[in-house]
Amino acid sequence: MPELPEVETTRRGIEPHLSGRQLKDWVIRNAALRWPVKIPQALKGQQVLGVGRRAKYLLIQFDQGALIMHLGMSGSLRVLPADTPLLKHDHIDLLFDDGRVLRFNDPRRFGSIHWQPHPVMEHWLLCALGPEPLSDAFSGAYLKTTARRRKVAVKNFLMDAHVVVGVGNIYANEALFMAGIRPSLQAHRVTLASYERLASAVQEVLQQAIAMGGTTLRDFVNQDGQPGYFRQSLYVYGRSGQLCKVCETPLKGLRIGQRATVFCPKCQRSQGLRSYRC
Ligand SMILES: [Zn+2]
Repeated sequence: MPELPEVETTRRGIEPHLSGRQLKDWVIRNAALRWPVKIPQALKGQQVLGVGRRAKYLLIQFDQGALIMHLGMSGSLRVLPADTPLLKHDHIDLLFDDGRVLRFNDPRRFGSIHWQPHPVMEHWLLCALGPEPLSDAFSGAYLKTTARRRKVAVKNFLMDAHVVVGVGNIYANEALFMAGIRPSLQAHRVTLASYERLASAVQEVLQQAIAMGGTTLRDFVNQDGQPGYFRQSLYVYGRSGQLCKVCETPLKGLRIGQRATVFCPKCQRSQGLRSYRC
């Protein structure tokens, strides 16, 4: 599934090709994505002002509002000459005035496209989302305040889009390792100092993934939805039973909220109000 770093990499990849272009027309070969795709006729001839992102939604911005796109489980976007032969699952083309298309491919059709007039952030998909992890609003103090009376495991808390957006399972595992926090610890029991380490770790792991994605992504295609380029640098995710890269203790695996969770019993000892560092 494309995660926040892949979506941000896609945004950076397509924006220079779309910004300033006029939307001439579109072709909807299959409107049955996660929700039926409808694009208002009034968008014809409108200029793209930029491509933004909120959580894992791409925002193609126009004067009157934005097209809100989500890649779902398996979606990808490419910028191509309009006469490029179609591949299976090429469901939607947006045609621009330079003769190129933004082509949306999505085998599993969990992706979506919505039109939303200003204010765009009031769209029902966006209005209840927590802060962006790479913004100033996301900090250790914010996490500590938000975690008050929350008894869920800190890993679930971190993956809750009402708390912070875009921290998928891989990144939650990695950030908790880097911060030395046991993933099963109740959110309200994590200290402020630990949350400060965690906020920094989340930002570091996401920025690293974006940086790697930016250097390996070709044709703006997220080939298989797997962050393969990022995998070599992982400390814990997918490494249950293998040795910790820091202390060589065997890593342990468990499931928290149905999601694979891997941690180092030695490096991630942070329990209750006591806090350990590696
Ligand atoms: Zn360790």
